Amino acid sequence: YSEIQADLLQPIVISSLMAHDTFLQDWVVEGEKDPGKMIRYLNKIKKKYGAFTDYFISNQTLNYYHPSGISRKIEPRTLEDSWFARVRDMSEPYEVNVDYNVEEGGAITIFINYRVLDAQGNFIGVTGIGLGLESVARLVKDYQRNFNRRIYFVDDDGNVTVRSEEQKIARRIQEMPGLQDIAGEVLGMDHGSLTYERNGEPVLLTVRYIPELSWQVFVELDEGDVTKAIEGVFLRNLAIGLFVIVLTILLIAYTINIFQHQLEKMAVTDKLTGLGNRQAFDVSMIQAISRFKRTQEPFSLILIDIDRFKPINDTKGHLAGDVAISQVALKVRSLLRDSDVLNRWGGDEFAIIMSNCSLGDARRQAEKIRTEIAGHSFFPDDPSLHITISLGVSEIRQGDEEDAILGRSDNALYAAKEKGRNRTETA
Ligand code: GH3
Ligand code: MG
Repeated sequence: YSEIQADLLQPIVISSLMAHDTFLQDWVVEGEKDPGKMIRYLNKIKKKYGAFTDYFISNQTLNYYHPSGISRKIEPRTLEDSWFARVRDMSEPYEVNVDYNVEEGGAITIFINYRVLDAQGNFIGVTGIGLGLESVARLVKDYQRNFNRRIYFVDDDGNVTVRSEEQKIARRIQEMPGLQDIAGEVLGMDHGSLTYERNGEPVLLTVRYIPELSWQVFVELDEGDVTKAIEGVFLRNLAIGLFVIVLTILLIAYTINIFQHQLEKMAVTDKLTGLGNRQAFDVSMIQAISRFKRTQEPFSLILIDIDRFKPINDTKGHLAGDVAISQVALKVRSLLRDSDVLNRWGGDEFAIIMSNCSLGDARRQAEKIRTEIAGHSFFPDDPSLHITISLGVSEIRQGDEEDAILGRSDNALYAAKEKGRNRTETA
């Protein structure tokens, strides 16, 4: 309602500006000499404000000035022009009048009739603008779109005076389904809201009387639309919520997956050398034995232990000892095939599962590793200090489980140590 009133206010302000324009007043007082001037003035106002039409009627000559010329002389005594006498004699500065516009082929128009006075306050004519009902209907259409309501205007008798062209409603509220029963009650209302049923659907109706027009504005809202709107918002929020939940779950799963992966890797990897640890060795052994049972393809196990490593640690320091262990690991790894599995078995011990390898081949390979290590200089600051290793080798046998082959290799390693170290023994 306040928007509708504000839109009506603009034409009233424009009419007031015209009525107080000194050009207009002077031109009348000076005897309406050059009608072209007035007509240009009216055209300019019409163009500037987009008014449907504007006009000036002189009290002196009763000429009706219009943007297209002097259309006629009015006759206040006839019913058609009786409004002029009413405006001349009224005490308010202006009136809003809904009437047929003779100058525009009889279209219903809202006129803002403003009294024009000279400097002494004498009535010299009426000016103002007329709004075609289509332009009001266009406003109604905008309101409907903006507020998602059905809006129309109704006069004292219940006739629908303005509606947007897309509305398919009856010409009178007395003929509208549902509304017809309460038409009498609604027509007398200054303002208020009520609910009625149209075709079984509840409709929320708000009515407000607009004194400037002597019309009521009807604003209707289907309660179904209200629940539909709420439902829409609800479903949208639900969808967004679900999306966020799914996204969160995916992110969590992804993160857990990464951590899981890292944990698994940490659980089977030796930190110092990056080789597989004892757990990884156990898994590789189980796999190797079950493959042997299946294919009868032999494999061998080499156990390696660094000789007299404790004194090295003591003289060179524990950190240098660490570096030495990882360098030995790298050196051994570089001498193996990809299919051989090297693990750090413990402190200064390593284990190699030699796939597809008999005892003889494994022994030769072990000797090669031993001589390579013995000939290598692991301490740049002390090239004369050499690391040697002892090795114990055995081959898988029928009926062996992990402990059996491991025990044999361990015994061989023990024998190598017993026999003076830096040597390879088999069992
Ligand atoms: P041998 O094997 O010839 O009998 O003598 P050893 O001095 O090497 O004796 P043993 O193999 O029994 O001892 C291994 C030593 O290696 C014990 C420990 O001080 C050292 N050691 C074990 N793990 C590490 C490690 O991660 N870093 C370092 N710096 N030293 C380690
Ligand atoms: Mg040792």
